[in-house]
Amino acid sequence: MKLVQKINLLLLPIIIVFAAFFIFVTYKSMLDYQKRQVQHTVELQLESLQRELSNELNYLKLIPLEVSTYLHAIISARAQYQNQSLQQLMVRLNQSGANLQWIQLFDYKGNLLVSSDIEGHYSQLPVQAVESMTDNLGGAPIVSLNAGFFFGGNQQLFYYRSYRLMVNKTQRSPGARAVVVLVSRVDSVANRFLRLTEQFGQLTEIKFEPRSVVTGSVNDAQFEHSFEDGVNIRMSNSEYQITVAVPESVITDRLPYSLAELSFFISVVVVVSYLILIGLLHFQVLSPISLLLDKIKNTRFGDNVDIKQMKSKSEVAELHNAYVIMLKKLNRLASFDYLTGLSNRVNFQVQFERQLSRAQRIGTKMALLYIDLDNFKHVNDHFGHATGDRLLKLFSERLQKSIRPTDVAASLGKGEIARLAGDEFSLLLTDVESIEAAEKVAARVLKMFESGFLVDGVNHNVQASIGIVMIPDDGTDAQSLLQCADAAMYQAKMKGKNRYQFYNQQIAGGIQKKQYIEKVLIKAIHHGHFVLEYMPIFEAKTRNLAGVEVLVRCPALANKGIGPDEFIPVAESTGLIKEIDVWVINESLTRMNYLTDKYGFNGFFAINISAAELHNREFVGQVSGLLSKHQVEPSRVELEITETSFVDNMSSSIEMLKQLKSHGVSLSLDDFGTGYTAFSQLMEFPVDRLKIDRSFIQGLGGSASQKQRMVDIVLALADLYQLEVIAEGVENEEQIQYLKDRGCEYLQGYYLSSPLNWDVLQSRVSDNDSKHSIPS
Ligand code: C2E
Ligand code: CA
Ligand code: CA
Repeated sequence: MKLVQKINLLLLPIIIVFAAFFIFVTYKSMLDYQKRQVQHTVELQLESLQRELSNELNYLKLIPLEVSTYLHAIISARAQYQNQSLQQLMVRLNQSGANLQWIQLFDYKGNLLVSSDIEGHYSQLPVQAVESMTDNLGGAPIVSLNAGFFFGGNQQLFYYRSYRLMVNKTQRSPGARAVVVLVSRVDSVANRFLRLTEQFGQLTEIKFEPRSVVTGSVNDAQFEHSFEDGVNIRMSNSEYQITVAVPESVITDRLPYSLAELSFFISVVVVVSYLILIGLLHFQVLSPISLLLDKIKNTRFGDNVDIKQMKSKSEVAELHNAYVIMLKKLNRLASFDYLTGLSNRVNFQVQFERQLSRAQRIGTKMALLYIDLDNFKHVNDHFGHATGDRLLKLFSERLQKSIRPTDVAASLGKGEIARLAGDEFSLLLTDVESIEAAEKVAARVLKMFESGFLVDGVNHNVQASIGIVMIPDDGTDAQSLLQCADAAMYQAKMKGKNRYQFYNQQIAGGIQKKQYIEKVLIKAIHHGHFVLEYMPIFEAKTRNLAGVEVLVRCPALANKGIGPDEFIPVAESTGLIKEIDVWVINESLTRMNYLTDKYGFNGFFAINISAAELHNREFVGQVSGLLSKHQVEPSRVELEITETSFVDNMSSSIEMLKQLKSHGVSLSLDDFGTGYTAFSQLMEFPVDRLKIDRSFIQGLGGSASQKQRMVDIVLALADLYQLEVIAEGVENEEQIQYLKDRGCEYLQGYYLSSPLNWDVLQSRVSDNDSKHSIPS
């Protein structure tokens, strides 16, 4: 997953949750703060109200003592004066600051004696104002106060105060107890409420609730509040209770930002920060990384690493610089040969391609020399690899010197040298004017070998074979030019080594043929287009059929006259042989079983296997797999390996043969006599039979020849090591006689039978009467 995707997937949800949480917390604390502000303001207002109220009512509280004498007088006065006097008293009291609305006097039974109230408000007077006092009249002259608020008409607030009065006896009244009620209109509450409403809006609810009759002193106000659905405040004392409810909507209207605005602001901040983060990430990390990545992808080994180091101190810059340094190191390792310091094959190919396009552009000629040392293997085998390495180094130094620009005539051009593999070197001459110029350099290289190479006090006599291609005459493609030069070098070796060879039409034909064979073989492997022929092998004494040698045919190539002696080497050099060998073994075992089941055939099948199998780790497993798949008797299967297969790595080859033998198959050494097997080595080979090469058999008969002696020796040797012998290529009766006389066990050759196709083989095997033999 890309970094930005990861960030989006991990960081974005966290940012969103965090932002939502932040919005919630901010809004909540804003709201709480506002609620406390409102609470505080309301409480201040209510405290002021409380003060105003007590100021307003203070006069009323002082009145009773002051007016009791007047009241006595009024009660005692004649009825027609009473009302008037009471009004006059009220006016006087109001002038000194009270806000009295009316005064009433009651007798001890609760009957109204006199009232200043002409409009008849008194009906609204709370009953408590009089009741509790008439119940229990007696005691001190002015005692026991009753007081309280009540609402009159128009929802106006009034405050009353009542008390008992002892009226002295006069001539007219027997002396009585009476109740005085003073009623005052309260304005401060309404005024304050108006201001509160103005301050907090119409939705605000304010309620004043008088408490039931209060006697005694008024206690201090208590505040209670709750913040549910807005701000709710209750102020209460013994006389009244005020509740103020400011709804949530009023509070939210007073907030500096609404929830939507706040969310918008915070979201904008979050989005902008996020974009900045992504931008930073992009410019500081991602784009430098992708730039570096591009360079990494586009860097080819062998190219000069021309990526500049970065100056910045950022982590990405450090990564970049570390990469460049590593790349340079790797490039050296990957491009140059550790031993000689010359370019290696990979680097050479890059340089070669570069020079090719340069030459094409400016129209110059070049020459490529493919140099392979002759007999170098001999030095390695006999003096060790360290000596071999020193020789290669020495040679590479001489080679480098030989083409130094000052050393080489200008017409020879400049060169690129490389070590392509073990003892293979290439020399590319740029700006070559003629074939002669290339020839001169080749001659100069060969001359370097004339005096030999002195390594560790031993003068090693090695030479070189050189293949030369001219560019563009012989081609313009690097890969095929190298192949052509290699083929020309091979030709030089074929012609006797220590020489140079220009690439020519004949070599071109060879390469083309090889490529053609390879193409056909690939197709044949793919479609199983191979056929087997069977060359009978006979017992020398009885001339009975003892077995057959299986020979593979590729019909598509056979049409063009190409047999296995030509296509097998191609299959070996291209690695296709492994599949062919497995196909042949599988097919042979199938046919062998068929012959056994149908005709009671009990002879052996000799199957050729390639030398390449001796180095193929999978081969033993494949053979044993096929043996058990077909359930054949392993001793009836013989694998033929050519003697020359053992040239390199003898011990591992022998180990391999032992493993094969452990599965019960028998082994024969093919083309015996053509290799260099020392007789002592023969003992080590776990083989059962020797097949004397055809070339020796052809020399039999007539006068005793070199070849004839060779056959005698092989037969004697086989006798010594208790090996059986098959003679190949028997072409006449004389040869048969000679071999039979000297104890050769088996014979094969065109004289006895040429290779048979499947149908002919069947009829031959089914011919039981002749005991598989042929007429002599
Ligand atoms: P080889 O193993 O030496 O096979 C014998 C070759 O000699 C065969 O040629 C055969 O036709 C030929 N020959 C036999 N008797 C005579 C004779 O009396 N006179 C003459 N002039 N030739 C005779 P072929 O079939 O062309 O095979 C050539 C080589 O190809 C074989 O040599 C063997 O090395 C290789 N080969 C053939 N079949 C296979 C196979 O299935 N697998 C592998 N790996 N190699 C095979
Ligand atoms: Ca053979
Ligand atoms: Ca042979």
